[in-house]
Order: sequence, then C-alpha cells, then structure tokens
Amino acid sequence: MTGGAESSTDETDTVIPEHRVKEFVSGFGIAVPRGATAPAAEDVAAAASGLTPPLVVKAYGPGLVHKSDAGAVRLGLGSPVEAARAAAEIRTALTTSGVTVEGYLVEEQAPPGVEVIVGAVRDPSFGPVLLVGLGGVWTEVLRDTSLGLCPITEDDARRMLSRLRGAALLDGFRGSPAVDRDALVKLLLAVGGPGGVVESLGEEFTEFELNPVICTPEGAIAVDARLLGRSDLTAREHPVASSPAGPARDFTRLFAPRGVAVVGASTKRPNFGNMFLGFYRAAGYTGRLVAVHPTAGEIDGVPCVPSLEGADVDYALVAVPAERCPDVVREARGIPFVQVMSGGFRETGAARLEEELLAAAGEAGVRLLGPNCMGVYSPAGGQTFIGGRPGVPGRIALISQSGGLAGEVVKVGEHRGLAFSKVATVGNSADVGPAELLRYLAADDDTTVIGLYLEDPRDGRALFEALRAVSKPVVALVGGRSAQGHRAAASHTGAMVGDARVWEALAAQAGLPLVTAQDDLIGALDLLDLHAGRKVPASPDVLVIGPSGGASVLAADALDRAGLRLAPLPEVDLGLPVGAVSGNPLEIPVGPRARPDLVGSVVTAIQRAADRPYPDVLAHVNVQSFFTFGDSADPLLAYARGVGELQRELTGTRVTLVLRNAEYAPPGVEDELRVIARAAGVPTYRSVEAAATAVAAAKVRDQRRRA
Ligand code: ADP
Ligand code: MG
Repeated sequence: MTGGAESSTDETDTVIPEHRVKEFVSGFGIAVPRGATAPAAEDVAAAASGLTPPLVVKAYGPGLVHKSDAGAVRLGLGSPVEAARAAAEIRTALTTSGVTVEGYLVEEQAPPGVEVIVGAVRDPSFGPVLLVGLGGVWTEVLRDTSLGLCPITEDDARRMLSRLRGAALLDGFRGSPAVDRDALVKLLLAVGGPGGVVESLGEEFTEFELNPVICTPEGAIAVDARLLGRSDLTAREHPVASSPAGPARDFTRLFAPRGVAVVGASTKRPNFGNMFLGFYRAAGYTGRLVAVHPTAGEIDGVPCVPSLEGADVDYALVAVPAERCPDVVREARGIPFVQVMSGGFRETGAARLEEELLAAAGEAGVRLLGPNCMGVYSPAGGQTFIGGRPGVPGRIALISQSGGLAGEVVKVGEHRGLAFSKVATVGNSADVGPAELLRYLAADDDTTVIGLYLEDPRDGRALFEALRAVSKPVVALVGGRSAQGHRAAASHTGAMVGDARVWEALAAQAGLPLVTAQDDLIGALDLLDLHAGRKVPASPDVLVIGPSGGASVLAADALDRAGLRLAPLPEVDLGLPVGAVSGNPLEIPVGPRARPDLVGSVVTAIQRAADRPYPDVLAHVNVQSFFTFGDSADPLLAYARGVGELQRELTGTRVTLVLRNAEYAPPGVEDELRVIARAAGVPTYRSVEAAATAVAAAKVRDQRRRA
C-alpha cells in the first residue's frame, strides 16, 4: 500500500515557486499574505512599496525546498528598504553555498498564532490523503497529526481536528484566545474537500503542503505553500477517481455453483486438486462435480472431462503450476467464475505472469478469483475449502485476503456457534477484489453482517467508497498495520503518512470498527449478528453487573480502555438485595447459592427506572466460584438461563455475557452455557476485554447509523 518508491520525488517532479503555489491556492479561497516578487535583490524595495511592514523576504529557486534551512528566509523587516537589504544578504549567503536564486518573494508578515501544518500526499492504494497537524515547524517532533482520505466532508474536517491530542491549543489555552476553528475547517475543505486543491491537481501532484498555516481568532492564513509534482498549476476538474458505484456484479453462482470442475487433480500423487475433490465430496456437494484430466476416466471416484471446454459448470478451481494457469483459464470460456488456487504470481514477484493470467481471464470472459487463493465457502450453496461437513447456513459473511485465516475464523467461529452465509478468500485479488464483493454482500439477503480480513487491498479507494456505502454492519481486521510504511519523501506530510494511520483515518470516516486480533473479529461478528435486529441508541453507555471484588474494578478499566462509558445508575430505590453494592459496575451476589434470576430482576428494574436505558448490559460471572463453592453445574446453567430471560424481556437492550475463568468448568459446561445464551440471542465471551471490544465495535456502527 503505502510504498516508498511510487511516491518518492522523482526527476519528473518539479518544485514550483512558492508565490505561484500561493496564487493558485488563493483561487480556492485560502488566505495567503499579501506579497510581490522581484527578480533581483535590487528590485525588492520597489516591489514591496505597497505592502505594510513588518515584511518577510524569501528567495526562490530550483534547489530551494526547505528555505529556512538554506538561510533563504528573513522575518521581521521594518521597511521595503530593509527588505531589499535582507534580500541582498540572502543572495550573498546562497551564492557562496552554490544555490541558484531565481527571484525573491517579499510579503507581509502574519501576526503570530497557533501554527498548523496542512498537507496532502498520494497513497498508491488509497489515493490522496489529507493531513493536519499541530506545531508548524515542530510537527515532526510532536507527531500530533490526523489524516483523512480525500475528498473529506465537513464532518471529517472537524473530526480530524478534534482527534489531535493538542486540540485544546486551538480552543485557547492558558489565556491565549481560541482560534477561528471554522476558518481552519474551511481551509481543510478548500484543500481536501470536493472540488478542492487536491481534486483539481488530480494526478499531477506528489506532495502538497501548507506549512505553516497560522491560526488566530481572526482566521487561518497559509504563510508557506509547497507543491511537488508535474503540475503547470492550471485548475481543472479532477474528481478523485472513484470505482463504478453501479449495481454490484452478480456473484450468486460464485457462492452457489450448479457445477464445479477441478483442474489439477492427479491419478498418481494426491495434490491440492485431489484435496479439493475430497472437500466437495465430504461436504456432500450435490451439483455436478467433475475433474479435468486429459486421459483419466475418473479420479477419486469423480468423473473426468478432458478439458474445461464444455465442462458445463459454473465454477472452475485451478490447481496447476503457475505458468500453466493462463492457458487453463483461456479454456474456461463460458464458465462464469474461475478460482486460481496456485501461488507463484505477484506475491512471489511474478507480476508479469499475474498480468498474463488476468488478460487470459479477460479474453475468456470469466471472472477470476485469486490467484493464490483458497476459494469460497457457503454452506447454503455447497461451496467449501475447509474440509469436513459444512456448518449450518447462517448470516455472517467474510471476505479475506488470507485463506488460512478465513479457515480458522470459520472453524473456530462455528465451534463457538457462529453461522456463515458466504465466505470468499480473494488471494492476490487480480480481478475480483474486496470492494466489489463487499458491494455484492451489502445487497445479499442472506447476509446481515460482514467481516473483513485485509492486508493490502489492491484498490483501497474503491474499498473506502464501498465501506462508506454499506449500511450493514462491517468489522475489519487489518494485518500488517505495524509495518512502518513510511515513504521516502521530501515533505513533512510525506514522512508522517503511514499505513496504520491511513487505516485509522479510513475507519473513522467510514464508521468502520477495526479490531486487532482474530479472536476479536469472531467476537465482534458474533455480537453484531446476534444483536442485528436491535436498534439501540448511539451512546457509549454500558451497564456492567457481576460479583463483587477486583474483577469488577478491572472490568471498569477494560471498558474504559475500549472507549465505553459506565454511566451512573438512575437515582431511584432499586430494591437491591443484601450484599449488593450500588454503582456501575453493579456488584451483586453471583454464585452457587445466589438467586439465579437476580441479574435479570435487578437489570430490568434499572432499565425501567432509567430515563435513558443502557443500550448495552454486560453481565459477568466467575465460573470457577461455582465449582469451588458448589459441586454441580446446575446453578451456573440456571444463571445463564436467567441472563437469557433478561434478554428476552428487554428487546431494546443488547445483553452480553462474560464467562470468566470458563476453563475451570468441567468439560462440556462452557459449550452448554454458550448454547443457552445464544438461544436467547446473547453472545458469550471468556474475558471482559473481549466482550468490551465487541460491544465497542457495535457502538461504532450505532454511531454511523445515527449520522
Ligand atoms: P520553509 O518552510 O521553506 O523553511 P517558510 O516559508 O515556511 O520556509 O518560512 C519559515 C518560517 O517563517 C515559517 O515556518 C513561519 O514561521 C515564518 N514565516 C514565513 N513566512 C511568514 C509570513 N508571511 N508571516 C509570518 N511568518 C512567516
Ligand atoms: Mg514552511
């Protein structure tokens, strides 16, 4: 994604003189200092005659990128004559160090204020990215910046500002007045919004930066402007390239093929092809299953056809050596979907072979899944790549750039009780990619929630647009975010835009919950699916209820870390039982000798009494205590039933159950507890942290629904 080579300054990039960039940006309504240029130091005084001191003089020329470092900026000049003298001094210094000066910019000095950097770079995958940061020249030290994918909305601009750690500086700090935030928002939109500087430069810029923009109560003024690129600075229409937003292509037969052909299975040495034949047979695939083999009549009991031509199937799975794949794909004319399982393409550096494969798919008129991809899983449609009997058809979809991870999520998820509708692994996504599948699944009647595992989406921009468009809940796990994707760059902006930060910006703009572990992806999908029908108000509030002790204290900390709020209980008599400690977390007796319906009755009373009932209730229990102070699972099962009853009672509340220390229970008990809870629509977790992550993911979506 954020590779260095594609975005570094190359020979074709030119540094455009500051005054020309300023002239250009002022056409977008961005305030810049009044100024004039002079070809020689001798002309500076005349050029400055109409300007009000204090004045600033700067030299410009082809080698002058960081002007103050080169000694090419002089501030605080009291008169045009003084400005001319400063220009002459700059000339002497620069000539000595061999720098060519083309001319001088003399301009009015803006009054001091909060210095902010506003910049934009082009990410090879996500397109133009806007950056705002505090600190002007100190930005790289402070590293207090936030990003937004262009084009940004006004909401995005405001969010970018409020996400700055030092945002308080903009509001006035220790006696300094608040700056004109609206003016800064306007400036951000003028740069990165629809029809802004970034859009009008289109492909012609590599890096753009206003550093600093000086913010005061009176406004925001860009006192420096830098542009690297091939632009001749004529504004034109360049709306940020967007993917076709039309109806999603029909992937019905990808997930439910009426016939499947496997290419590559061997009569002698079992290989991946044989493995897949085995998978389809074990899954009880009821469509037409054939193996492609030039001579054999059957392989592993599956009838053979000599070639894909005339195979009469909806899906072909290709598992032959990479260099043979393009030829096989050419034979697939008439088959709507071809999966290339084989690796040895772009992921190993063989980009040309992948292009040939893609071209072959184009010639044959087939849609290509992969290469380097495990395939598709759909219990309802007979598709599988995981082995064993498929699970029960469900409503959770998954798009994964890793086949192995998808297999784990499905298997472990199904073991926990999750049920999947459609799972697609996309491998190298040479043709069919996450964005297009996301659009399809967003409109799929069998799917209520969509999980994503991504590492390097080929077309990040299309994915961003698809994510913004889907209304169903989506949750994403992104791998490789810690890789320091810093580019070799000439600007501060370029040095500060890394992969992880782009994902955070995308998540904030698209209202996409990001999780950081496979287990959390499963946990969040489970909660979003089980509670899919419940429309709860968008609020960070959670009521936590469980036994007293350190666990409740730690639960509060875990929720806090997840960005959730333990809003206080309503101030009414809740008729709490003996041993209860009122508060949030609410501590009540939970154990083998406690009333199993206690959680239910207390929570119901609270929700009825509250002006604003809690959108989420998190009940936690110490499983170990039931088997240390009791000798049967019955009280614990009764407790789980009580929690289930509570959920049935409170249809407008999401209840989540945490089975702490579940490994302490005798074999089978944890599964039994899960089944009881799930039957009532309650997801279960082994830790408060895991539950908090899932609840927080749901809240990100609540927020988005409201927006
Ligand atoms: P560079 O970033 O190439 O070193 P700048 O044009 O940003 O050069 O100038 C260096 C510093 O001088 C700025 O960070 C800013 O603090 C100050 N400065 C430059 N121009 C002005 C101006 N017109 N008004 C106020 N301060 C200015
Ligand atoms: Mg500067």
